[in-house]
Amino acid sequence: MSKKFRPATQLVRGGVNRSNHGETSEALYLTSGFVYDSAEQAEATFKNEIEHYQYSRFANPTTTILEEKLALLEGAELCRLMATGMAAVHAALLSTLKTGDRLVASRALFGSCHWIISTLLPRYGIVGEFVDGADLGQWKAALSKPAAMVLLETPSNPMLELVDLPAVAKLAHAAGALVVVDNVFATPLLQRPLELGADIVVYSTTKHMDGQGRTLGGAVLGSKKWVEETLMPFIRNTGPAMSPFNAWVVLKGLETLKLRVDQMCRNAAAIADFLSERAEIARVLYPYRPDHPQHALAVKQMSAGGTLVTFDVKGGKEEAFRFMNALNLVDISNNLGDSKSLATHPATTTHMRLAEEERARLGITAGTVRLSVGLEDVADLIEDLAEALDAISGAPAVRAAE
Ligand SMILES: *Cc1c(COP(=O)(O)O)cnc(C)c1O
Repeated sequence: MSKKFRPATQLVRGGVNRSNHGETSEALYLTSGFVYDSAEQAEATFKNEIEHYQYSRFANPTTTILEEKLALLEGAELCRLMATGMAAVHAALLSTLKTGDRLVASRALFGSCHWIISTLLPRYGIVGEFVDGADLGQWKAALSKPAAMVLLETPSNPMLELVDLPAVAKLAHAAGALVVVDNVFATPLLQRPLELGADIVVYSTTKHMDGQGRTLGGAVLGSKKWVEETLMPFIRNTGPAMSPFNAWVVLKGLETLKLRVDQMCRNAAAIADFLSERAEIARVLYPYRPDHPQHALAVKQMSAGGTLVTFDVKGGKEEAFRFMNALNLVDISNNLGDSKSLATHPATTTHMRLAEEERARLGITAGTVRLSVGLEDVADLIEDLAEALDAISGAPAVRAAE
């Protein structure tokens, strides 16, 4: 497939490699191993003299189709799939870093990424340093010393804080660092990190790419040299491979990614506007709303505002819980990017393990709710949110004891 096609076309056509049966849909090669015509062919395969699949921990024809599709979509030289998004982040970092290296990361990271940097890497003598992702001065200070890697998420989970990708990439490269961007919230359709200066992009395919809540998966994309020389030996030997079955499910998900993400963004924008008018809500964060603190950056580096809306319910945990419990259509769940709209209370679930001060530093309050907007009719979603807000705006709950 030529690389000149637009994303919607790549999502449907990119990487397709039909077998001699001429199947329309991609074939599912649910096999762990492969056979050789002769002992000589096996030897030549292991010597890399011929191309032949060896073992699905290394590569599999179904996962290859998905890898090629994602690489074409992202504009990356190569992609490798992993069993989960966290396996992808872990492999990108651990395949590259060594004792004595420094890594600089934005503070507003997915919880497990935070754990890898603050708890796992120090065991191997790798120093992690966190900065406020929105503060270029902090990036500048941290990257005034040599660093091996930068890891950041933009927009971040759950406060939808942005990092200025070109500015940070420039500082990182001057410090000698590779820039790794976790692009899950934006998806490859709304933000193109490699064109904005990143070296490596990671995804949890569990989110929008599957998009229908079925499989766990991850992907790492980067240059041919880094993937072949650094990432591949690490994953061949440590084994975080994605199942061909999961790759096949994600292939089916990707065919509708653009339709879904475009509609979810339209729904999210309408919901953000609706919430901002409600007296029960203290603040709404949505990157494409003019009142987002980094609206200008959002418009510059993203092509739409995304599929998530984060907001603070007045009255803290008690009112946030009453609101969530009063939802009938929207489900309470910690997942995101699903066709079903999902509401999360970060302070007591996804971010409960962070210290109170760290949550406060990220801007997560007891009233913060993250809404992953799905594909239901937006009028039904707004009615559900309105009814739940009406349910809490009656007599305020008794707080005399506080
Ligand atoms: C979900 C998520 C991950 C981890 O992905 P899993 O597939 O759950 O392992 C990493 N980063 C971000 C931003 C995520 O939303």
